[in-house]
Amino acid sequence: MSETIVALATPAGDSALATIRISGALSECLAKDALSLPSPTPRHSYLGNYKSNDAEIIDQVIFCFYQQNKSFTGEKMLEISCHGNPIIVQKILSDLVCRGARLAEPGEFTKRAYLNEKVDLVQAEAIAEMISAKSLYAIKLARKNLDGNLSLIISKVQTGILEVRAKLEAFVDFPEDDLGMEDHSKIISLIADIQDLTEYLVDSSVRRSIFDKYSKVVLVGSPNAGKSTLFNCLLGFDRSIVSDIPGTTRDYVSKSLILDDICIELIDTAGLRETTDQIESVGVVNTVELIEHADMVIAVVDSSLPYPCEVTELIDHNVTPENFIIVENKSDLEKNINIEKYPKNAGVVSASAKNKVGIADLVEKIKEVIGLGKENSELEFSVNLRHQQCLKEVNTHLLNAISLLKDSQDALIILSELKQASDSIGNIVKPTDNEEMLDHLFKNFCIGK
Ligand code: GDP
Repeated sequence: MSETIVALATPAGDSALATIRISGALSECLAKDALSLPSPTPRHSYLGNYKSNDAEIIDQVIFCFYQQNKSFTGEKMLEISCHGNPIIVQKILSDLVCRGARLAEPGEFTKRAYLNEKVDLVQAEAIAEMISAKSLYAIKLARKNLDGNLSLIISKVQTGILEVRAKLEAFVDFPEDDLGMEDHSKIISLIADIQDLTEYLVDSSVRRSIFDKYSKVVLVGSPNAGKSTLFNCLLGFDRSIVSDIPGTTRDYVSKSLILDDICIELIDTAGLRETTDQIESVGVVNTVELIEHADMVIAVVDSSLPYPCEVTELIDHNVTPENFIIVENKSDLEKNINIEKYPKNAGVVSASAKNKVGIADLVEKIKEVIGLGKENSELEFSVNLRHQQCLKEVNTHLLNAISLLKDSQDALIILSELKQASDSIGNIVKPTDNEEMLDHLFKNFCIGK
């Protein structure tokens, strides 16, 4: 029988409430001994006093008991919500340990849920992703995996490979039924279909990786074009200094923000112009460096003035049309900008940062450029790096099997490749004999999860 584990499931520190989780056989006894309720009705909330081993009331708490097989971990569980004072939490945790439970390792509750087959490994990972996700999109994707979207496709691939293996095995068992040309090409096309699917999954993993980071979006332009005003407008509150004296933003100002569900690091830079001011010229050098490392560059221009050539000169060799757009700012003023000077294929958005006009269009454009446009936001599952690794192995074995079939090689060799493909795909949801990998994976979870 496994030990009973206990952990604080909510963040440490002062809070209105704190939730303590207990999983294991002792859960029911603990409800009886510490909470004076011998046979709690499962999934029912009780109000009661938590009494320590030496009969001292520690806190008035709400608690809920879960039966074996009907809990998150699959074991008997008890959840106690006490007042969120770290001293109370500590007292209750120590008392539970005193009564025979032990403190849980990071991710140990989810690991038990996995070992008791309440979730597969993809779903277990989705729980960690839900907690650490950096944007609403990432949360939605993790949710889809928790619902089983990816596990379903993986199982489709598994079944497909098994069917092909069964077909081939029939020829090994009954060699008199020769593998004719027709069967031969049918099997190749079946494997190719499965391989298309795994290829697609690998590709979606690359698209999904965008959701894991804050994309760097750099605002550049001549002094006074309205960069800081636009920066503040996107931020939704005043942060940069807005002034009509050219060269105010001598260094850069950076802020991570969630913009219409996407996470970006927005950087307001020093104006691009020839200058004799030493501090300002360092700012310009920094801007060039920021452009080089940006995921997206937005050139803010004052559309009431001619196009500033220094902008083109400085950004020309550092940006590609795919990650560059021009914001024609000050659309409230008469337009004098000469668009024929714009860099080739640059995307253009008209806006007035001061009057907060055109900002929704700009946000749409930002999403499109940094890869969070419609196509990627409609992903139905989340393929992480571990899955990607396994899928690449599957791809290799499937391609090997196809090429062996084309060379009319022995069915046994082909079967061995397909068996390895099965093993690799199986490792995504339920790795066999891989205690070390599981330990490594779950130790990155938070305590109490
Ligand atoms: P930066 O040097 O590029 O950062 O420019 P600022 O954001 O400091 O703005 C310079 C001046 O332009 C300020 O007086 C702003 O109020 C003004 N400004 C910014 N955006 C607009 C706009 O859309 N329309 C008008 N008319 N003025 C603007």
